[in-house]
Amino acid sequence: MEYSLDIAQADRVLEALRRDYRVYAPKRFPKQGRYSDTDIIRYDEVRKFEEIVWKEKSDYPMKEVVMPIQQTLFYYTEDEYRTSKNPVKPVLILARPCDINAQHIQDEIYAGNGGYTDYYYERMRGLVKFAMMECTGGDDTCFCVSMGSNKTDDYSMAVRFREDGADVQIKEDSFDTYFEGMPKGSYTPAFVEENETKVTIPDLSDKQVRLALKKHPMWREFDKRCISCGSCTVACSTCTCFSTRDLSYGDNPEAGERRRVTASCQIAGFDQMAGQREFRDTAGDRMRYKILHKFHDYKARFKTRHMCVGCGRCAHRCPELISISATVSKVNDAVNEIKAEMAQQGR
Ligand code: SF4
Ligand code: SF4
Repeated sequence: MEYSLDIAQADRVLEALRRDYRVYAPKRFPKQGRYSDTDIIRYDEVRKFEEIVWKEKSDYPMKEVVMPIQQTLFYYTEDEYRTSKNPVKPVLILARPCDINAQHIQDEIYAGNGGYTDYYYERMRGLVKFAMMECTGGDDTCFCVSMGSNKTDDYSMAVRFREDGADVQIKEDSFDTYFEGMPKGSYTPAFVEENETKVTIPDLSDKQVRLALKKHPMWREFDKRCISCGSCTVACSTCTCFSTRDLSYGDNPEAGERRRVTASCQIAGFDQMAGQREFRDTAGDRMRYKILHKFHDYKARFKTRHMCVGCGRCAHRCPELISISATVSKVNDAVNEIKAEMAQQGR
């Protein structure tokens, strides 16, 4: 069933949905941006239809709804602990196709990784349904088409936003009840078919090429440019790394809570081991690790897809203007150079 709503009608539907769901969508936070007088757009619970930001891509990804930047896992005292409580009310998230595809990657990492399921992720993820926001085309950092993440059929309903309302297609019948008495319409969701930015995935199937790429001078550029701030991974739709911190209450170190806190492979010390040993102690090495994880290692392990959905948020947030699409282009150039050298040497 399809509906065509004006803003007042969309508000009534949202009110009805909110009786059964916590509804999350991209929302504007004025003057909380990186520079003075700039805004930030991030996911939050919405109460009014006009709060939903649909023309611009959110600065921060949808993953924060399911996996907040920090969350309490359990509370402890000297000899016992109690697991933190999970919200019980289901969650409806308005998300673009790339964001829904990114959540599938998070599912693979947290809930299907070598037979281990993350309890805290799974209990939250089990509450989530998606309302697919038809994408208006993103911006010049998007390359979802190159990554095959421009389309999805994982949604309970689809929404095309208009200045004066919204068109809605219901895919999961139980959602029709929230639209009782609303005007019927005709709407079929459309997907972005072409981005301004295109990315060619490097062919890294040859181990010798990968080993040569590891030592390639291209990574040294990032020793100077990347300040290892980690903004790119916090904004990334698919990055999942975290650390844990114990927070003691008052003077008693044996009573407190353990929190999971977002971490970043781009920050110095992320991989530090006993004896101060670090595997990747330069910004360039850390960049290489991230890029190869996104465009080779993840797929080699999970056999499903690459770990990047081409949302472009990392490029958008980087204070040094490091573009992931330009970096992948450089990897392609380096790979071609390595292959040509190998061919010359008859390898
Ligand atoms: S690496 Fe960049 S473009 Fe790819 S999913 Fe993460 S934020 Fe989006
Ligand atoms: S946001 Fe930019 S400068 Fe910061 S760690 Fe990522 S690539 Fe480096």
